[in-house]
Amino acid sequence: MNVLYAIFEASPFAKTGGLGDVGGALPQFLKEGGVDVRVIMPKHDAIPERFKSKFRKIFNFQMQLAWRQLYCGVEMLKYKGVTFYFIDNEQYFKRDSLYGYDDDPERSAFFCKAVLECLTKLDKFKPNVIHCNDWHTCLIPVMLKEYFGDHPYYYDIKSVVSIHNLKFQGITGRYHLGDLLSMEHHSAARDYLSWEWGEAINFLKGSFYYADAITTVSPSYAEEIKTPFFGENLDGVLRQREDRLFGILNGVDYDEYDPASDKAIYGAYKRGEWEGKALNKAGLQDEMGLPAEPDVPLLALISRLTEQKGVDLLAHVMDELMAEDVQMVVLGNGDWFYEEKFHYFMSRYPDKLSARIGFDEKLAHRIYAGADMFLMPSRFEPCGLSQLIALKYGTVPIVRETGGLKDTVAPYNEFSGEGTGFGFVNYNAHELLFAVKRACALYRASKEAWRVMQLAGMSADFSWKASARRYIKLYEGLYKRPKVTRKEIRL
Ligand code: ADP
Repeated sequence: MNVLYAIFEASPFAKTGGLGDVGGALPQFLKEGGVDVRVIMPKHDAIPERFKSKFRKIFNFQMQLAWRQLYCGVEMLKYKGVTFYFIDNEQYFKRDSLYGYDDDPERSAFFCKAVLECLTKLDKFKPNVIHCNDWHTCLIPVMLKEYFGDHPYYYDIKSVVSIHNLKFQGITGRYHLGDLLSMEHHSAARDYLSWEWGEAINFLKGSFYYADAITTVSPSYAEEIKTPFFGENLDGVLRQREDRLFGILNGVDYDEYDPASDKAIYGAYKRGEWEGKALNKAGLQDEMGLPAEPDVPLLALISRLTEQKGVDLLAHVMDELMAEDVQMVVLGNGDWFYEEKFHYFMSRYPDKLSARIGFDEKLAHRIYAGADMFLMPSRFEPCGLSQLIALKYGTVPIVRETGGLKDTVAPYNEFSGEGTGFGFVNYNAHELLFAVKRACALYRASKEAWRVMQLAGMSADFSWKASARRYIKLYEGLYKRPKVTRKEIRL
């Protein structure tokens, strides 16, 4: 089984967020599962020189994109056993940032066409499946069928589109249908890509009609996005295509996040080594300027400070929360409004709340290790990584039961003692507050019950291995037959 994994960012070459983590990790695990997987991404200027200097140029060619005649170079590097191809065009990719430019639709169209055109020139590698990620790569299924559908080399190649964030869809002016894609007279493409809201086209929407399968990063989110609340105006299309929509949970890289081998924390600890956890709590309280209180519940929030993450709920009940006998540490950045809110709360409750506004990976590790509870009251959450990391560090998550949070955190059952965290259902600030109060009550009432819950979380396996197995089943199903069923990949 040969898979070409098309993505705009992959760690350690280029990363702006979770997508880069997936691009760096999943291909390794697909390879371990027996897939000949190759990653293809732009040669961004941001790729560190230590990698760029090792790239090997394999070929270049001239490519037509509507009326444009463009240079396209292809370079490669083998990294941890996986072959990475880099598409080179300085006009499009020699930029300070990966995204955020007016011509992003043009950069994306160039990349997608270049991926398809370079295939026939690759030595001894023909993909059975092209796996595309988010809107920047999702014109590939459209072009695969419309430009290359009758070509003997391409006609049996299948395509998969993965949605990592449905909010970003690649919406651009309708004139691009002709100016970028030369499809202005093509009635099917025009219908599939057209976007009712304004004179626009929508790349992601188009790909939903052309891809052989659509995946997103958790089973619950795959259901939610078929409803208007989560669907970002694409719920109707997703309902139409639900027979080929699958939710496959993301994984965590336990080489990076494991308290037993973590070098960034105050002291490594394994499951059941509670003194180690206590040492990290004391270290964190000291570092964050909070009083050393081993028995006071220490809450943590590590997050982008945006409304998606539910920080508005937290701000709403912060005074009531601070009236409890708790401490809290916050690490995050994002909307100025919330950054300022946390500065304000810190000045109001200096002995209870300590907030760091910024991005600090090392401190994040120490917070996962030192806190007792981890807050994630998200409005929506396609998968969520932070709660998975918290579980591994024996830090009990308190989450809103949505998307990937619902799939990964089992709510505490006071009768059976089972569960790995606490949850609340409605997007309501007091439901969050009551969930925190329930958690604190158990923390104080029974150390034993609390430890059972910590152990259950630390034993849960959210490694990439299981996710990779599901993707492989999906690819195999697609390759053998035009369609696969949910049951076949056991979701
Ligand atoms: P997102 O929607 O932001 O991708 P996830 O939960 O999937 O949310 O992943 C967030 C990742 O970013 C986690 O590894 C978390 O620890 C990390 N992170 C978020 N904010 C910060 C920050 N301010 N400093 C350090 N790490 C952060």
